[in-house]
Amino acid sequence: MNTEFNLNELKAADRLPSPSGTALAIMQLVQQSDATLQQVSRLVKVDPALSGRILRFANSAAFGARRPIADVQTAVMMMGMQTVRNFALSLSLIGNNSKGHCAGFDYEAYWSRSLAMSVSIAAITAREVTVIPAESFTLGLLGDIGSLALATAWADIYDECLSAAKGKQLLALERERFAIDHNTLSLMLLADWGFPEIFLDALKLSFEMKVAGLNRTDQFARQLIFARLIGNYCVADETYRAELLPDLIAEAGLHALDKPSLLTFIDETIELWHEWGKLIDVKTDVRQSVQKTAADLESVLNGLDLLLVDDDPMMLARLSKQLAAAGHRVAVCRDGESALKHVIEHRPQLVITDWRMKPIDGLALCKALRTSAFGKNIYLIMLTSTEDEDALVEAFDAGIDDFVTKPISLRVLLARLRAGQRIITLQNELEKESQDIQRYTAELAAANRRLKSMANTDVLTNLPNRRYALNRLEQESATALRANQPLSVLMLDLDHFKSVNDTLGHDVGDQVLIHAANLVRVTARTNDVVCRLGGEEFLIIAPNTDGTTALLLAERIRRAIEANQPKGLVLRQPVTVSIGVAGAMRAKPGWKELMKWADDALYLVKQGNRNGVQLAREVGSGK
Ligand code: GH3
Ligand code: MG
Ligand code: MG
Repeated sequence: MNTEFNLNELKAADRLPSPSGTALAIMQLVQQSDATLQQVSRLVKVDPALSGRILRFANSAAFGARRPIADVQTAVMMMGMQTVRNFALSLSLIGNNSKGHCAGFDYEAYWSRSLAMSVSIAAITAREVTVIPAESFTLGLLGDIGSLALATAWADIYDECLSAAKGKQLLALERERFAIDHNTLSLMLLADWGFPEIFLDALKLSFEMKVAGLNRTDQFARQLIFARLIGNYCVADETYRAELLPDLIAEAGLHALDKPSLLTFIDETIELWHEWGKLIDVKTDVRQSVQKTAADLESVLNGLDLLLVDDDPMMLARLSKQLAAAGHRVAVCRDGESALKHVIEHRPQLVITDWRMKPIDGLALCKALRTSAFGKNIYLIMLTSTEDEDALVEAFDAGIDDFVTKPISLRVLLARLRAGQRIITLQNELEKESQDIQRYTAELAAANRRLKSMANTDVLTNLPNRRYALNRLEQESATALRANQPLSVLMLDLDHFKSVNDTLGHDVGDQVLIHAANLVRVTARTNDVVCRLGGEEFLIIAPNTDGTTALLLAERIRRAIEANQPKGLVLRQPVTVSIGVAGAMRAKPGWKELMKWADDALYLVKQGNRNGVQLAREVGSGK
């Protein structure tokens, strides 16, 4: 109908999306060459909603905020007049155009996608700097403004266009109807609003997908293409999302993002997108758009190890090629027998099998897999030429997880594979979780053992401590009673140890303690339990040992200490030890008494010349 497109006519008729209120005032102000930051700030401050959003914008980490900015004037200064202006313009356009009269135009999805693109382009330009991220953000928001403009200016005709056009035809149809397409109109409007030339040039290149050069404009154009793909990905429904992936991955490669970093990048972008959506009232839950993480992307990105079983070589060749193109790693087998062998050897994650095969058919293969340890958990998809209920029930009973009817629609098969992939991912997560729990339990047990041994060990000498000594003595006492055996204890105390500390210091005292402890340990017999009771006092529990024998042991230890002085230490007097010994038959009168008697015997030695051993009277032996 139009032979020539006239922007000014449309503007004059007020038929285009345009800023209003504060945004308009800011735009008019910034247009004047002598506008100051103060004037802009003053205008911003009049509008509380705008002030809040500008503060949040200036403070957002994604745009390089380093320290918190608390007042509008600083925010305006940091952002720069142009960015403030474009930001206000975007917000005003969003506010005025969240709804409209063009029935076929999804206004919510439009802004949602634009926001996803703007968050992406800001994040991308922050990674590889071409333009200032905050500036690219507003270009992202308004980069497709031509579509909205067409829907606004010619609501009904554009509605017809949208329903008539399929994919790429839209631009041609638009040119036919309006003498302009939405891309060209976007460029025109942005130019009219005073967006910088490099932005417009790059945007144009990104529309045309003609980016060959390496200069800044070309680089920025590449980034815009990438951001647009992410924007589309964010608002696409699930099936379409998967179709976008190959391009997205290929484009990510040009921005030095491998698959894992692409995942993180998209995850972070999606989070920011939701955050910004709340901040500026743009819905980010339109249709089936991505909500939280790119987990679905992850499973698709990684592809599946799958086995395709069919006795028809043509079919095998065609399907395997298509599945490989969709990112899966495909192995093929032409009969059930070799399929079983392949599963044992290669453990695929998923098996797609034809039903009618010879000599083992798909049904028998599924049964065989389900009864084997290696095939129990494999996801099985059966290709059937019938939807006959009985046949399907039989197949499910044989263990299949899903089926696809022939002739096979690739789209359906891929969708079913994605469903399978979700189950497999879940299964893996569960398995990992249970492994984590097992590992955690083991770690906990080890930690508890360490803790227990710490609680029972003296840190200086590594000997069992007092706590352990008393428990063990009680235990040994019970054993002696039960087994009708003798039991002895030896109480050791180093002589004049205080003077070692006093004259040579605590550290030397410690070394002497360690030295003595080691000597006692190696001199005692294997069954004797040597403990440090505290200070320079030790207790030896001698199971199945009567007092007389224990006294011999005591003397051996005393002599060992006397004869093996610590090397490298110059002591005032040699290290010696006094030992009190008490033995009991069948542990009478009781372990506490036994200790007391050993202590009394020790006291006797200390009363004398020290460096000696003394046996307390033997109890219960009949002697
Ligand atoms: P006696 O022959 O009568 O046993 O004389 P002694 O000096 O050994 O007597 P006493 O039992 O009064 O002194 C024990 C000293 O052991 C007191 C304290 O300074 C010291 N001591 C206790 N625990 C430690 C320790 O862990 N390291 C060091 N270096 N000294 C300790
Ligand atoms: Mg002492
Ligand atoms: Mg003492």
